[in-house]
Amino acid sequence: MTLLALLTILATFTFAQPSSSKEVETVYSDAYALYLDLHQNPELSGHETQTAAKIAGRLRSLGYEVTERVGGDGVVAIMKNGTGPTVMLRTELDALPVEENTGLPYASKAHSKDDAGHDVPLMHACGHDLHMASLMGTAAVMAHSKESWHGTLILIGQPAEETIIGAKKMIDDGLFTRFTKPDVALALHTSNELPAGKVSVLAGYRYANADSVRITIYGKGGHGAAPHTTIDPVVIGARTVLALQSITSREVKPGEAAVVTVGYFHAGTKNNIIPDQAELGLTVRSYKPQIRKQLLDAIARIAKAESLAGGAVKDPMIEHYESTEAVYNDPALSQRLAPVLVPALGRQNVAIGEPVMGSEDFSYFTNQGVPSFFFGLGGADPQKYDQAKASGQSMPSNHSSLFAPDAPPALRAGITSEVAVLRNLLSGSAEDLRKNLAKTAGAN
Ligand SMILES: [Zn+2]
Ligand SMILES: [Zn+2]
Repeated sequence: MTLLALLTILATFTFAQPSSSKEVETVYSDAYALYLDLHQNPELSGHETQTAAKIAGRLRSLGYEVTERVGGDGVVAIMKNGTGPTVMLRTELDALPVEENTGLPYASKAHSKDDAGHDVPLMHACGHDLHMASLMGTAAVMAHSKESWHGTLILIGQPAEETIIGAKKMIDDGLFTRFTKPDVALALHTSNELPAGKVSVLAGYRYANADSVRITIYGKGGHGAAPHTTIDPVVIGARTVLALQSITSREVKPGEAAVVTVGYFHAGTKNNIIPDQAELGLTVRSYKPQIRKQLLDAIARIAKAESLAGGAVKDPMIEHYESTEAVYNDPALSQRLAPVLVPALGRQNVAIGEPVMGSEDFSYFTNQGVPSFFFGLGGADPQKYDQAKASGQSMPSNHSSLFAPDAPPALRAGITSEVAVLRNLLSGSAEDLRKNLAKTAGAN
């Protein structure tokens, strides 16, 4: 049965809608206060010291066994509560170098130095402050209701998600060896794709794998008035950019998700000088490993062929400098957890999500053989969302200087859904949970 079919059946039942349940309300004001604090005090990827300290201190006072500085500023908080499954819930810790233009009374005015020593504005433009506040509310509910679950709960604060190195650093620093390897890993992400108060679920691929590729084309520079004495890398580069467009339109099977974007083309300094070199920067996205290989092979082939056709002095240099794997939601886990969210939030607040071509280094955790469930958290102000829909406009996306989630309903939905999912998983035995899952983590 597909998720959609499952939710359609569930829609015929009437459930109570405890979207602002009492236990969520008891932790809400602390969680919201933390949200406002984090929002006004964002920290750059790899520099989340104060943020991590705030999270670690609060978790410790709730009774969690907390280890700090795991893979940089990573936080690992464990609560053992009898025998049962081990479940991990992640939040990210980092913010972005964006100047906040939301006009909110609690807008960030923070600045800091980036790794190159430049002064940059800072903003939680991806909503990680909301994820942290939600995790803290959830941590408090779980700590106050230990009779409602059994097993081991691992809460982690992951640094450097935006630079897609934090998850790997935590793994390399022994996240699954110094601490217990979980049976299941969970995460959520907010966006304006959905109104606040709602969540979205999805089985299978949720985020794409991403590869950053740099192509350096070697020409022969000279006077702009004497092109016959040169080999013009601008012309070779321009042809390369256009030829690369034919990969997704002509080579990849229709229906397969694939993106090849040339995000920058750097060449030259002055209008009458033909430069020696040109450089292209690409982002390459897909879900399946075979499509990923097809894209990268085609890019190399086309880049070399265009340089050859243009008479370049040598083959282009093709560098593959950053990558992350696709995030794959274990289908059996999604089938199990989607119906859990319906009574928690109300059927109208659980939507079927769509896979996106964005990327997430959460895949580093799941590729260690841990089945995962990564769900969406609505962030949009419901009124603005409806207005935008009616006028055919789109709301500011994550990373925009105008990104302003409607935090109160989103936070309540985040805590409610995390608690519901954790309680479902932290019931029964670890063996039964493992048997119940399809063991498809890392199947991408
Ligand atoms: Zn982001
Ligand atoms: Zn994010």
